Amino acid sequence: MVLLFERHDQAEQMDSLGRKRDQDILIGEQVRTDRLHQLFRQSTSAVLGSFLAAAMLCLLCWDRFDHTITVAWIALLAGSSLVRTLMFVVYFRSPLQERTAQRWERTYWSTLIVSASIWGGGALAVMPPQDLLAQVLVMLFAVGMSVSAVSCYSAYRDMTLVSIGVVLSPCTVWLFVQGSAVQVGIALAVLVFASFVVTASRNLSDALEKAFRLTREVEQAHSISTHAAQTDELTGLKNRRAFFHNAQQLHSYCEHNRLPLCALMLDMDHFKLINDTYGHQVGDQVLRQVGVVISASFPDAGICGRLGGEEFAVLLPDTSIEAALSVAERLIQTIAGLKAEPVSYITASLGVASTQTGNKDLHHLMNSADKALYRAKALGRNQVVAAE
Ligand code: GH3
Ligand code: MG
Ligand code: MG
Repeated sequence: MVLLFERHDQAEQMDSLGRKRDQDILIGEQVRTDRLHQLFRQSTSAVLGSFLAAAMLCLLCWDRFDHTITVAWIALLAGSSLVRTLMFVVYFRSPLQERTAQRWERTYWSTLIVSASIWGGGALAVMPPQDLLAQVLVMLFAVGMSVSAVSCYSAYRDMTLVSIGVVLSPCTVWLFVQGSAVQVGIALAVLVFASFVVTASRNLSDALEKAFRLTREVEQAHSISTHAAQTDELTGLKNRRAFFHNAQQLHSYCEHNRLPLCALMLDMDHFKLINDTYGHQVGDQVLRQVGVVISASFPDAGICGRLGGEEFAVLLPDTSIEAALSVAERLIQTIAGLKAEPVSYITASLGVASTQTGNKDLHHLMNSADKALYRAKALGRNQVVAAE
């Protein structure tokens, strides 16, 4: 017997470890989804912003840039901005449950890389080799793009870094290759700016991730504690407080919709004897099994609870007294057939009452079922009695 309980404790420990792991996985998934939502919310303006930045640069340097290349660059950027805008429209129009990281991250990545490459490659293509002022202006706009990438893609650090790298590196490498002191100086300055941007993006994305995780953990802890406050630890059924809270709502619903409501009160027979003979832990095991039988016996619309000790209650909406009596009969037969070694007998008595027979308020209904239960006890136990 001791071995049995040790095994049971071990199984419970494994269960709780498994639950913890599942909860961690769930939080990880939720945080990933939160980051995706943040990314889409924050970067809507980036689509138009990156196009406008290039357009403004081209306008400022119209006389300094090659016109054919400039027009081709702007046309390509317009095309990629259109594709990205369409992606945003589809995303924001899709149902919330379909806005998942699995579904959207890859699409976002590919459009981002394409548009950043067009920006970085185009900036290099329009760069006039002999015009230092135009080169400085191009770099100014490219650095500006990088800074705004931090605010747009901060939920995804990798995206920030990749987009900065793709936009800045073609022109920066080109400047280094030119070899004049001023051009190398500009390239170095760009690198210094970029290193600050990289650090800022790491701090920002770490802080965001922590905030999302903390929010989800608090939500989970709240839902666990709410569930625990409403649940009977031994059987997993509703506890007394939660049962009566839900019962009152169900009673009002049935009253409002003129539906019959039945109450079943169940009490284990000679339960003290089971405890005295086999010990409290075996008694607990029997109560657990009875809890499983009760929750499996009733439709979702019903409410099942453990009112205390070895006493259970069930409320069945939209159910006639005849239907409730036959469910109750089946229930005590199932309980009588339970195998809970080493206990050789397990029986229960049941009282049933209905609002159809004059028990208008909930208190009255439960009292009638309780009285019927005690008549079942008096008549010899292991039976169902209907309220008079
Ligand atoms: P009756 O057929 O008249 O209902 O007899 P009974 O022995 O079931 O009723 P009684 O009210 O005398 O005893 C109920 C017993 O239920 C007493 C108590 O030790 C036991 N009990 C109450 N809560 C728990 C519990 O959580 N676990 C266990 N193992 N026993 C419990
Ligand atoms: Mg009892
Ligand atoms: Mg009792």
